[in-house]
Amino acid sequence: MDRRDEIAASLTAVSGRIDAACRAAGRPRDEVRLLAVTKTFPATDAALLTDLGVTGLAENRDQEAAAKAREVARLRPEAGVRWHMVGRLQRNKARSVARWAAEVQSVDSLRLVDALAGAVRTARDAGERDAPMDVLLQTSLDDDPARGGCPVDGLGRLAEAVARESDVLHLRGLMAVAPLGADPEPAFERLARAAEALRRDHPGATEISAGMTGDLEQAIGYGSTCVRVGTALLGGRGLASPQHG
Ligand SMILES: *Cc1c(COP(=O)(O)O)cnc(C)c1O
Repeated sequence: MDRRDEIAASLTAVSGRIDAACRAAGRPRDEVRLLAVTKTFPATDAALLTDLGVTGLAENRDQEAAAKAREVARLRPEAGVRWHMVGRLQRNKARSVARWAAEVQSVDSLRLVDALAGAVRTARDAGERDAPMDVLLQTSLDDDPARGGCPVDGLGRLAEAVARESDVLHLRGLMAVAPLGADPEPAFERLARAAEALRRDHPGATEISAGMTGDLEQAIGYGSTCVRVGTALLGGRGLASPQHG
């Protein structure tokens, strides 16, 4: 099988899983978008995904993503790819991310909000981007600071900070990664409640980004609007690139 057929078959399987999970949850299929996580895979794979109609692509490291986004733009100039940053982001990378990402799902600190807002303004003034940055607040579901994410009780303050930068940042919702080695369902339920609370003050923040290769069904069951799938689409990444890295 060539790589294109291989990815097409994986995409059919993943789409089938999302369809079935939506049916099981009694939710319309168009409430859930699929992001293909292309980290560690070459730009040619990303290009093949766009040929198959997948234009929401996600990366977790600025340096790899910036180069890949340039390469995919060269390979498929008409594809209309939308790039998403889903990994831990250092403030000194905000300027670069503002050049390639349409959306950052891993915003978890006030300092990062400041840095991103400044970076988007600079990019806008330099003519490098027009659109504001869509922002999701990464939510810690295990209260382990080492794994990133804002604790649930800090989300309100963080959301207010993003809302104050509304000329350059658009608050769209929450993102989370389920705790390692535990049943994801209680975590996704907690995330759903946090998202509901956020919507009371920020009605436009309707997105819940949750669910990966191993747990997308459970996430859709608890209201996910965005699943981020790498392994099930493109294959294993090997030991050099940990699952949650
Ligand atoms: C790598 C990664 C994914 C995709 O994980 P898979 O298990 O390969 O589907 C999703 N979200 C984030 C934040 C990631 O870093």
